[in-house]
Amino acid sequence: MSFRNFKMVSYVVYGRGSFNQLDEILAPQRKGDAPMVFLVDHFFDGKPFLNRIPLRGKDKIVIVDVTQEPKTKQVDALADQLKEEFGTISGVIGIGGGSAMDLAKAVSLMMTNPGSSADYQGWDLVKHPGVYKAGIPTLSGTGAEVSRTTVLTGPTRKLGMNSDFTPFDQIVLDPDLTKDAPVNQRFYTGMDCYIHCIESLEGTFLNEFSKSYGEKALQLCQKVFVEKNHWDEESDEQLMMASYAGGMSIAYSQVGVAHAVSYGLSYLLGTKHGIGNCIVMNHIEEFYPAGVKEFKHMVAKNNIEIPAGICKGLTDEQFDTMINVSLGMKPLWENALGKNWESIMTRDKLRALYEKL
Ligand code: NAD
Ligand code: ZN
Repeated sequence: MSFRNFKMVSYVVYGRGSFNQLDEILAPQRKGDAPMVFLVDHFFDGKPFLNRIPLRGKDKIVIVDVTQEPKTKQVDALADQLKEEFGTISGVIGIGGGSAMDLAKAVSLMMTNPGSSADYQGWDLVKHPGVYKAGIPTLSGTGAEVSRTTVLTGPTRKLGMNSDFTPFDQIVLDPDLTKDAPVNQRFYTGMDCYIHCIESLEGTFLNEFSKSYGEKALQLCQKVFVEKNHWDEESDEQLMMASYAGGMSIAYSQVGVAHAVSYGLSYLLGTKHGIGNCIVMNHIEEFYPAGVKEFKHMVAKNNIEIPAGICKGLTDEQFDTMINVSLGMKPLWENALGKNWESIMTRDKLRALYEKL
């Protein structure tokens, strides 16, 4: 048996208003006059928040379009543009939801690794450490701030650049930055965290490390989405820590059925991560009875609409594509269903599930 030697984020600052410390946090990381580049979620384009970014010298803000989830082409284009404009940079700071943070991780790696980011989709393929990178979430739930991956859609697959070089050098967890997230989006991304917890806690890979973080994250999600009747400042604080702890939980176990099935949806239909997980979670009581029951209660209580019928009218070939993508996520299925997962989740059974979505 071999145990994972888990590379963590190097520095974490937490607290309402901690974003104001960014200038002093970045100062020792500056290499001569090489700039810091801030990749900022397009939600903040034209907003006063941009004036709070501590620009010095040749520093640059790049507004990133996160209408679709990050693509290898987008990462390559951003890295090429920065290499052309500056040669080298001191670092890259991703400010936004999971998409903007993943873009920052990937761009950092592509500043120092040759070729295309598509060459590094997989496990431990990245050869060189990237440039300094920091992540600043403005939406809570994905756990992208703590993970060792950056999920990218490439020419042939949707797969992360998983490596010990991928985690951020620094994260800034300032709950004040999430306060303007729209109710629906906050729920979908919050449920990503809730689902991480259920999949980790109900999985066969569970261990005391994952359980400790998973139980805490689950409890925080329940406080926010089950117990309270309105959103408040404390909710932003709780969900931000839930995201962190949920990410820590899956880092040392694995996700499960909802993620494996949702990856098929997002590959074929472009369904976004949070909402895709919710669409699947609505139909998998067979695997997670208590979790799905509570999930449905949260959906109703928070007045959220979960899309249905998204697989109507798809062809056999399209169903096969989703099934292939999903069954390719072997560790997720093994965590969810055990070593004999292939005899449990047959192609026919998975097809029947996709038809319900
Ligand atoms: P997102 O980053 O795609 O953003 C969703 C929407 O919310 C966007 O329109 C964005 O502009 C908006 N938004 C972000 N912050 C806001 C704010 N403060 N106020 C108002 N609007 C705001 O959503 P997400 O759910 O955070 O991230 C999903 C992405 O994360 C996917 O690309 C997924 O693959 C990735 N992901 C990565 C990991 C990982 O470990 N690296 C884990 C899970 C998911
Ligand atoms: Zn997830």
